[in-house]
Amino acid sequence: MLRTTLLAAARSRACRTLVERAPVTRGLVSRYVAGSSLERALPVVEQLTADRLVTLDHLGEDTTDTSQAQDTVDAYTRLLSELGSAGVAERAEVSVKLSAVGRSLPQDGEKIALDNARRICEAAARAGTTVTLDMEDHTTVDSTLSILTELRMDFPWVGAVLQAYLRRTEGDCRDLAGAGSRVRLCKGAYDEPASVAYRDKAEVDRSYVRCLRVLMEGEGYPMVATHDPRLVAIAGVLADSSGRGPGDYEHQMLYGIRENEQRRIAAQGRRMRVYVPYGDEWYGYFMRRLAERPANVAFFARSLLTK
Ligand code: FAD
Repeated sequence: MLRTTLLAAARSRACRTLVERAPVTRGLVSRYVAGSSLERALPVVEQLTADRLVTLDHLGEDTTDTSQAQDTVDAYTRLLSELGSAGVAERAEVSVKLSAVGRSLPQDGEKIALDNARRICEAAARAGTTVTLDMEDHTTVDSTLSILTELRMDFPWVGAVLQAYLRRTEGDCRDLAGAGSRVRLCKGAYDEPASVAYRDKAEVDRSYVRCLRVLMEGEGYPMVATHDPRLVAIAGVLADSSGRGPGDYEHQMLYGIRENEQRRIAAQGRRMRVYVPYGDEWYGYFMRRLAERPANVAFFARSLLTK
């Protein structure tokens, strides 16, 4: 119930104004977001890449303005060039939301998003790194996967995200488990109806294990995006039983969450990638993180009411 309310608030302009203006917000946001600009985020990336890998997200989504989509492409191009100059491109890639580069535009949105994503891929190729397409709500899955197919013709290293809470995902994992593919498996962060998604936590977890088994037994490169200690342990077991070594898959976690566990995994010689968001369009991302963590919500709601 609380999760549903917060996820609805993530798309409300009125709530956005309220949350952005609340004095308490800044402290909580900085836990999950590496900085409001690339200049602030880069030192974080340099520090993280000492023992971990990184994927950077220039925050923004649901763009309905062509020039804003263009600005996002420019921001990624600049980011990728900086990663190259800073000598961290081998350890830091980028994550892109197709709605940030134009998919939601009323006319030709999908084509514009494909063209823009292609430009980001070209910049990534020049810098010597990779791109992963984030997954948004269930209405966008087919379009994301079809753009992925197009991009992979020229850039075979482009990765995608699949969400274990969707009933279709085990099938999508089978389709994407072939050689050369990179698939990040997460539980899923949006509020989805029962017609398309498992709503019960135990069911989502069981789906995650089934999907992960398919990916581990396939020929691609699985990216295990979860902070759930049980699933992290199961990933290790499935990797062993599929004959995968530490370089044949990776763990992924979000910036600001289970930092000690991230370090522990990295210290064991396993590949650990941190998803690092930056920029001033943090609202939607931040609300989804609040929705995952009831303890934060209680604290945040109390502060909003008392200020
Ligand atoms: P949970 O059961 O939610 O959490 C397990 C434990 O992790 C919790 O008990 C808690 O200790 C800790 N934890 C989890 N969330 C928080 C939090 N917000 N604050 C503090 N502690 C927390 N979702 C998408 O829909 N599309 C994407 O493209 C996408 N990309 C992602 C990329 C990465 C690298 C990661 C790690 C997640 C991504 N997600 C994405 C989010 C994902 O779908 C989940 O919503 C999120 O990871 C929480 O699920 P969990 O697997 O960690 O399990």
